[in-house]
Amino acid sequence: MFAEVYKSRLLLMAIAIIPLALATIFALGSWERRAWQSGDNAPSSAITGVNSIERMKQSLTHDRKLLASYERDQALLRAEVIRRRKLFQDGQISKEQVVEAEQLFVGALQRLHTLRGSVTETDIAITEAVLGEKVARMPVLPVNGYSETTELVRFNGGFKWSLKEAPRIEKYFSQTFGRSLPIAAKGQSQTHNRFGFDHRDSMDVALHPDSAEGKALTNQLRKAGIPFIAFRSAVPGASTGPHIHIGRPSGRLAH
Ligand SMILES: [Zn+2]
Repeated sequence: MFAEVYKSRLLLMAIAIIPLALATIFALGSWERRAWQSGDNAPSSAITGVNSIERMKQSLTHDRKLLASYERDQALLRAEVIRRRKLFQDGQISKEQVVEAEQLFVGALQRLHTLRGSVTETDIAITEAVLGEKVARMPVLPVNGYSETTELVRFNGGFKWSLKEAPRIEKYFSQTFGRSLPIAAKGQSQTHNRFGFDHRDSMDVALHPDSAEGKALTNQLRKAGIPFIAFRSAVPGASTGPHIHIGRPSGRLAH
């Protein structure tokens, strides 16, 4: 269910339907860091307070429902594009009517794409909030200390990590696995601001730490002395966000 799989599906669909949609998705750039915009298509989940995991969960539930309705819109518009193209081929409607449907479809895809990114990010943020509280109560690891529980793996690497090192990790991953690193959040995003997390020098990778790729990545991080926390379990009730957080544990933003 991770975003990378979804993205591939989306791209394939776009290729199958209209090149315009493909161009738009590339123009969107990296979806992971796109915060939703204010305006008509903004999910109505703005949270002004912090420290409320329950509200984060409610927000996620709401956005998941919205996502389902965006998926339906997209599917309907896709069918409409196909229908109008046929009619145009048969000489029954104008080219403009086809273009109109295509543009609506592209808009729906964009909305879906942006919201999907936000949902994944919120999901992961909830996992970090819930399990992060447990981490805060755990004994501090010595430099290069490593610990594993059923829920998470921690490594307090001594390397002075910053986001400037991220390209090195991305390069390692793409050279090893022939696909790009599935980054769910790099640095501070709108989501972290809303939830009051300091994520400025951290990067979340949407890989299960016990998958082959996840294991290879965490081994590589340990070799390089780069600190990480790998979240294994989903948080019951809302989140499905196993992932690897590269960097120091997230603290609270000062207010
Ligand atoms: Zn993180």
